[in-house]
Amino acid sequence: MKLLLENWRKFLNEEYEPITVLRIFDFDETIAHTRSETRVEEPDGNKVVLSDQKEFEAYMQQAAAKENIEAFDPVGVLIEKGYKIDLSDFSIVKDPEEITIITDILRQFPEDSKTYVMTARRGNSLGPILDYLELINVDTHQVRPIATQGESKGLVIANMIRQKIMPDGRSNIHKVEYFEDSQKNVDDVIEKICKDKTLQEIKPDDFQMIVYKVDSIEGGHKLRKISCN
Ligand SMILES: [Mg+2]
Repeated sequence: MKLLLENWRKFLNEEYEPITVLRIFDFDETIAHTRSETRVEEPDGNKVVLSDQKEFEAYMQQAAAKENIEAFDPVGVLIEKGYKIDLSDFSIVKDPEEITIITDILRQFPEDSKTYVMTARRGNSLGPILDYLELINVDTHQVRPIATQGESKGLVIANMIRQKIMPDGRSNIHKVEYFEDSQKNVDDVIEKICKDKTLQEIKPDDFQMIVYKVDSIEGGHKLRKISCN
């Protein structure tokens, strides 16, 4: 009963929390470099190993084009077409190396902001991701994990903006900061957040979308800032 009440109080507090900034962090190759291999067996028996996210995206894009698949995430349809795709590495956090240029920002938790770790991973990967964040001393009580299962992150973020409508009909979200290494996801988020006319109508006048694209460079990482509104 006590727990129920506490949850209820938490819920109430959240409803009236003056959240104006969303901070959204991708996980793989953004918070940490991981060794996530994807093993694919094509319908004709040909075997392919994809050793990182770049190879994964390139392969899936190419396979989708070959099979005439238009879905944002072609993995499900490819499996239906007889591709065996082993994603088991993505249910664990394998050999992680922290990307400190990002985790230094992640640990800041500015006032009036809410922090999400949003991964395109499938399955029950959120537990291992939270365990890893604990391990590197991130206060996980302040982090909301979300698994989009490969679906559009842009749509998920647009929904978050739409959920906080104030009496003037505008969203209470004035700024979104998005940290991501995948160009595909960056393009999708810019498309869904900055180019959508219906969303434009509910954004406050000072709305800002700031994308920090994580690029790996010799011996580390750097951030490329892209803003739109
Ligand atoms: Mg990533």
